Amino acid sequence: MNYLGIDLGTTNSVACTVKNGKYAYINFRNKELLPSAMLYKDGKISIGSIAKRKATIYPTNYISSSKTYMGSNEKKWQIEDRTFTPTDVATEILHVIHDEAVNFFGNNDEIETVITTPAYFSSSQNAATAEAGKRAGFKVKQILAEPVAAAIAYAFDDLKTNEKIYVVDLGGGTFDVTLLEVSSNNEYRTLMKDGDNHLGGDDFDIAIYELMLSHIRQDIGVDLSTEESSELTPEAYSRARQKLLQEAERVKCVLSDAEEDDVSIMNLFPYRDGNYDFDMTLTRAAFMQAASKLVRHVENTIRDSLHNVGRSVDEVNRVILVGGSANMPFIREYVEEFFHKKPYSDKDLSKLVAMGAALRADGTRGDTITLHDIIAHSLGIEIVGDRFSPILIRGREYPCEEMKIYTTSHDYQEVVSIDVYEGEDENQIKNNYYYGGFQVDGIEKALEGIPKIEVTFSFDESCILHVKAKDRKTGVSGAKDLAIHFGH
Ligand code: AMP
Repeated sequence: MNYLGIDLGTTNSVACTVKNGKYAYINFRNKELLPSAMLYKDGKISIGSIAKRKATIYPTNYISSSKTYMGSNEKKWQIEDRTFTPTDVATEILHVIHDEAVNFFGNNDEIETVITTPAYFSSSQNAATAEAGKRAGFKVKQILAEPVAAAIAYAFDDLKTNEKIYVVDLGGGTFDVTLLEVSSNNEYRTLMKDGDNHLGGDDFDIAIYELMLSHIRQDIGVDLSTEESSELTPEAYSRARQKLLQEAERVKCVLSDAEEDDVSIMNLFPYRDGNYDFDMTLTRAAFMQAASKLVRHVENTIRDSLHNVGRSVDEVNRVILVGGSANMPFIREYVEEFFHKKPYSDKDLSKLVAMGAALRADGTRGDTITLHDIIAHSLGIEIVGDRFSPILIRGREYPCEEMKIYTTSHDYQEVVSIDVYEGEDENQIKNNYYYGGFQVDGIEKALEGIPKIEVTFSFDESCILHVKAKDRKTGVSGAKDLAIHFGH
């Protein structure tokens, strides 16, 4: 058996194995990062840097950041004669990883893999990821949360005492913060998780893109904010947009190290009798100003995350930064100021998650790791007066089960609705997230407050919540299973 850890990233993927106690990475065209991008043209699929390169010529044949839609039944890309789901795109990316891994291992043995996903992924999103792994030819041992993988990469070999590790993970499309307690016998216990599943490096690219658009507007009065306002052909518009977005990402990364950079793109779009050549100087200060809302959101999430669960900064022994976007200097600066300690960054941020996944996947050492995870937000039902009654309280380790007794709110009520929500606001249910519900018909005919209805919530290893409601007297019951997302 061969063992492989895979960080299936929004922007880049990395595959790593542990060989003779050392990390070894699968190479993709001589690079250790495989862009998580796909292009379909004339019946042929291209993955990675080739897809990215062709994207400016065939922007409508190009799919990037598909992980953001993983597990969604609605999202599909129609390109030429084919339709691709997010799972299909993940499968194609994993296929390339599988092919290169077979070359790397140099044998035909099966490859057992641990694939990482964001901490907030729901059970259905994790299941879709595992399915993609299987379809690509892997034996999927486990789907592992990215921050836990990062903590494993840090702590596995060099932890002598118990420590609390705070992980800030800002990738291409996702933002998670996690507090873990790690003991020297390789037990990893998640104590808190929070974040925003709609925030990532892509949003910072957009901030730069907007600056570029206002530069063009000021320069020649052309407004590229929509295809219509640009007055370009659809082809010319999407090509220009794609080129600007790629440049925006490039310059964003440069500004992590430099205070300013020049952007020039020849022949950006047809203009008057020729083409428009784009030329602009961007400073880090202007970028930070344009992205100030995002920056503040990241900072506030970090600050509030500990406070929300009654933990203090002093408990944290080390802070780890993960994800490509954590290279942006403002994160390091904020972490240092808030935690009064420098974040750990002696390891390559873009490989950390894959390293942890490789350790967990490893046949001999991976099984010495024990993982404990928690429910990120309280789960409960709606009660009279638009209020919320939590049944499983956030921070509880799962698998777990809890039963509470409810009753009717008017005389001779025979039907009750069980509506399941997630959140912390007990007074105003509308501030919580609705998951689904069902009705139970046949409740004991009695005055209000007399019937006893048992509502049981059990939360299993795969983040599936099983909800059951039963009238004690009549025995009638109803049930529903719900896949829970973390991160609302
Ligand atoms: P990941 O999902 O962890 O691969 O992170 C990818 C994201 O990190 C993309 O949005 C990249 O543009 C961003 N990124 C990578 N390197 C840097 C850098 N040096 N500075 C800022 N952002 C970066």
